Amino acid sequence: MNEARMNEIRENYLRTAEKVKSAAEKRSSGQGEVTLLAATKTVPAEEILYARELGLSVIGENRAEELNLKYDELKGSFDIHLIGSLQTRKVRSVIGKVSLIHSLDRISLAREIDLRSKAEGIISDVLVEINSGREENKGGIMPEDADAFLDSVGEFENLRCRGIMTMAPICEKKSEYRKYFQETYRIFIDIYQRKMHNIIEPVLSMGMSDSYEEAILEGATLVRVGSGIFGRRK
Ligand SMILES: *Cc1c(COP(=O)(O)O)cnc(C)c1O
Repeated sequence: MNEARMNEIRENYLRTAEKVKSAAEKRSSGQGEVTLLAATKTVPAEEILYARELGLSVIGENRAEELNLKYDELKGSFDIHLIGSLQTRKVRSVIGKVSLIHSLDRISLAREIDLRSKAEGIISDVLVEINSGREENKGGIMPEDADAFLDSVGEFENLRCRGIMTMAPICEKKSEYRKYFQETYRIFIDIYQRKMHNIIEPVLSMGMSDSYEEAILEGATLVRVGSGIFGRRK
């Protein structure tokens, strides 16, 4: 990694962390702190480890294969999440390595995570992914089905639902994101009040490079920023 690249990552990271902090300070008290997760797909381990020196501590990988390729270099240095859609047959290769799976969107996947977690003697934390834009070609539970889905997920002993995640549709104007985040926040609060009494730090994962400030103002507890920190992906 050359110096120009280090400077780019440093400036991007520090600027992003500052913006996250000031957006969090703008909202009403009681909404808690915001975790900045760096989405690290396609980013070499060396660059991710450099961001660790700047203060980054939580990262999210998209694919099980890429996670496993980088895992030995990253483990111990980061709290690692899985943020991309997860194929059932890949579950086994990520259980015990990631502290949170953001993309639970079907019961067959819940069953497999539960089974593999049981085999390892652990409880796996998950978020239910909500399709806030009701986009047909996208994963995630439709907002109106969230309640029933949460009930079914509650049946699995080795799964713990910590909250919800959404990938909003791509919007041209930043302000257009708000309605998706608002609806997701309402679902989050509703589910939290009725079904997650035992969860100490509930997670609402929403907002990416072009929308994280809007997401924070609408109640996100965790934002996932990739290109905003590491630059455009090749
Ligand atoms: C890539 C990715 C992000 C980050 O996207 P950017 O636009 O690069 O910030 C966030 N969440 C998920 C699930 C992703 O796959």
